[in-house]
Amino acid sequence: MSEQVQKKLAGKTALITGGSRGIGRAIAAALAAQGADIAVVCSGNGEAAKETCDELSSRYGVQAGYYLCDVSDFAKAKETVEQVRKDFGCIQILVNCAGITRDGLILRMKEEDFDRVIDVNLKGAFVMIRHCSGIFLRQREGCIINISSVVGLAGNAGQTNYAASKAGLIGLTKSVARELGGKGIRCNAIAPGFIGTDMTKDLDRSGLAKQIPLGRIGSPEDVAQAAVYLAEADYVTGTVLRVDGGLAM
Ligand code: NAD
Repeated sequence: MSEQVQKKLAGKTALITGGSRGIGRAIAAALAAQGADIAVVCSGNGEAAKETCDELSSRYGVQAGYYLCDVSDFAKAKETVEQVRKDFGCIQILVNCAGITRDGLILRMKEEDFDRVIDVNLKGAFVMIRHCSGIFLRQREGCIINISSVVGLAGNAGQTNYAASKAGLIGLTKSVARELGGKGIRCNAIAPGFIGTDMTKDLDRSGLAKQIPLGRIGSPEDVAQAAVYLAEADYVTGTVLRVDGGLAM
């Protein structure tokens, strides 16, 4: 059997927010390895996104392009989704991975830090689903993967804004799964534990590893493996898949 025949996501386009680095970049690479074309949507100056896209197209021979867009900006996100659809012809997979932290104790947390984290992490996912769902409905096909966190399941002192956004994503996921399941659209969440990326670079990683049954911090590739599973699992919707080495069981 040729390699092309084995690639389960060939002919599909995956739009990945936050796909320029960290977990999003690993998900983009893992979906590209299965043959999916990749549209990266991210904030920042685009250098990391360009590097990611160049590597994916040269390594996997897929179409890859990046789009600078703040996912919490409803109008700009609408334009971006429309541009991706024009450039790629279709979108079958949406991965909402863009996320930020603005940690602080509740007693001192600034209103703008609460609002910004909710805007990017939770509203951003709503915005992207809202704009992609028309495309998915016309195709009668769509797969949405929201990157939540174990903190959304268990809570975490010093992260009330972040935990609320990640718990909100779980409610969003289950509601979308119920609302759109009959139209051939699946929606699932992944709840990663501690993953070694820029977001966690200031944490005491060896101390954290001791709390994890599997004894190590996760890698972005550990999360990407779960994303590929959910992209391909035709009978799975509304689930929250923990990828945490057993941390939050
Ligand atoms: P990261 O900081 O390395 O990457 C974040 C990405 O989000 C970047 O590509 C950035 O450009 C993008 N982004 C940020 N704000 C944006 C905005 N307003 N609009 C568009 N894009 C924006 O982070 P990471 O560790 O790779 O985390 C990725 C996701 O996984 C986040 O949602 C995070 O909350 C979640 N997560 C991470 C961990 C962890 O331990 N690293 C654990 C659980 C969940």
